[in-house]
Amino acid sequence: MPSDPELETRGRLIRGLGALREMLPGSFVERKRACGRPNCHCSDGKSLHTQYVISLLVEGKPKTFNIPARLVEQVRQKVAMRHRFDAAAVTICGINLRRFLKEKENQ
Ligand SMILES: [Zn+2]
Repeated sequence: MPSDPELETRGRLIRGLGALREMLPGSFVERKRACGRPNCHCSDGKSLHTQYVISLLVEGKPKTFNIPARLVEQVRQKVAMRHRFDAAAVTICGINLRRFLKEKENQ
């Protein structure tokens, strides 16, 4: 068993990645908008509708995808998973870079 605390951290992060398998790309964005119907309460320009979207680049172009109300909480969590995945990758790469540099010195 590794007693190196960095290896323990790396192992814990790797084992946690499976829980992030449902992650979604992009940003979770809350928007306010008017629907355009003249008799709607939003036509005053103040009591606007809340709309949730995923915003991301697809083949280099900015895209937004509307999130149906029933999926909002689920999608919010899945987008957050991606951020945890990225943070884990940064930490793992940092550990591996330190180990590489150390190994280089020891030859
Ligand atoms: Zn409206």
